[in-house]
Amino acid sequence: MVWKEFLAKLKGKVEIKEEAANRFLKFYHRNQKRLLKERKKSYYNKRKEGICVRCSEKVVPGIIFCLHHQQKQVEYNQKARKS
Ligand SMILES: [Zn+2]
Repeated sequence: MVWKEFLAKLKGKVEIKEEAANRFLKFYHRNQKRLLKERKKSYYNKRKEGICVRCSEKVVPGIIFCLHHQQKQVEYNQKARKS
């Protein structure tokens, strides 16, 4: 559920001051951005260092996965194409 929906429902039952709700949303969005940034950072760091983004194994040169996860990715792509 999205926070906006959640708050809208909550507002119907409990009196939440607009200001408090806005502050809550602001806090949520700020943290969401920060979390996303951190996740991105580690992804790029791993890529830069030649480490698989799914585990901590060394990648196969030229791709972002290790041998094991490259194989997984190939299987996944084949399944996705079939359906
Ligand atoms: Zn891996």
